Amino acid sequence: MTAELWDSKIESMPLKNLKELQLKRLKKLVSTVYDKNKHYKKKLDDAQVKPGDIKTLKDIEKIPFLTKQDLREYYPFGLVCTEMDDIVEIHASSGTTGKPVVGPYTRNDVELWGEVMARSLWANGMRKNDIMQNSYGYGLFTGAHGFEKGAQKIGAMVITISSGNTKRQIDVMKDFGSTVIACTPSYSLYIAEVAEENGLDPVNDFKLRLGVFGAEAWSEEMRTNVEKRWGITAHEHYGLTEIIGPGVVSECKHKKLHINADHFLAEIIDPKTGETLEPGEEGELVFTTLTKEAFPAIRFRTKDLATLYEDTCECGRTLPIQSRIKGRSDDMMKVKGVIVFPSQIEAALMQVTGVSDNYQIIKTKKGDITSLSVEVEPTEERYKEGHLDDLEKQAEDEIYSILNLHVPVNAIEPKTIPRSTGKAKRVIER
Ligand SMILES: [Zn+2]
Repeated sequence: MTAELWDSKIESMPLKNLKELQLKRLKKLVSTVYDKNKHYKKKLDDAQVKPGDIKTLKDIEKIPFLTKQDLREYYPFGLVCTEMDDIVEIHASSGTTGKPVVGPYTRNDVELWGEVMARSLWANGMRKNDIMQNSYGYGLFTGAHGFEKGAQKIGAMVITISSGNTKRQIDVMKDFGSTVIACTPSYSLYIAEVAEENGLDPVNDFKLRLGVFGAEAWSEEMRTNVEKRWGITAHEHYGLTEIIGPGVVSECKHKKLHINADHFLAEIIDPKTGETLEPGEEGELVFTTLTKEAFPAIRFRTKDLATLYEDTCECGRTLPIQSRIKGRSDDMMKVKGVIVFPSQIEAALMQVTGVSDNYQIIKTKKGDITSLSVEVEPTEERYKEGHLDDLEKQAEDEIYSILNLHVPVNAIEPKTIPRSTGKAKRVIER
């Protein structure tokens, strides 16, 4: 490792060599799943693809996609490609929209996970002398475990506090001298709010310098707020249980999201036709795990919308770059013919002085017609000033300037929107 790169051989490998490595790994992967798993074999046979047909990276397009529906069908262990006896760790998603997604890991998979997380956290700026307060929820979720493995591999100290018990988070952060916080961005803001209520100044009364955030869609404007509120640098992590958990994509100090592409091959497709798109075009992210053993995913459709770039970055990494996630295609709303993502409304609200970080988008459905309104908490000071209709009008104008759509905004009393210790619920249906 160098000062800047955890694994300079891989992270600054010429793109051509990286693609050769990906192809070599892809060939091996396809032949492994074909030999080891009857469902994968059938899928490939049905598509008339034999492992030997994979001769270039582009040949991946011959392989059918893997969807959430497939994962449900083969729940829990139908797609495992090793002996069950080789599995040493299991994680799972919450399963809010059906059966949970199960992530089984062999010893090598666990090792890989620690490695890609260490690489990601190192790129964020974490070092051995850091103390990471791990405020992601421990349990079946991948989040807390992935961050723990990576931080420990770097040699940092991990405080395994989990989420919740916010007053205690503050005591621990102060007493143990945490320098890094790992949680959802919205939970970090809630912790800051409770710290302030207890007479503490998040910027000056703590040693925090870095936030490693994920598991939630958040806008650049929200990032700026988090950074100011805590006086830290905030970095985004992107990952999925279906792929490995966190560790798939994270940021360098230039805030470019690098994909750990030696292990995770990304494609962008047209969500409607399934056709592969070129770098620079926006579409749905699709991931293939190139080296995972227990539960390899080939062409998993994430439903997340983003753009890929193959530009080199100022940081020296050649690993391809992914844009911020524009939104999950599931979160996309169509209102009076206009496509709306919650992140666009968030970005508009954050432009308005006197608006806090707490808001909710209210989605109302009458027959086939969807309408939206927004409830937002002003800051305490702004609330006391009154004339809230001015603030509402400003927020409506900002939303209109982004979406060309009139969305009514209601300013509501501070601290009325429920706070979350995990993923904030930004859209509610009434
Ligand atoms: Zn970079």
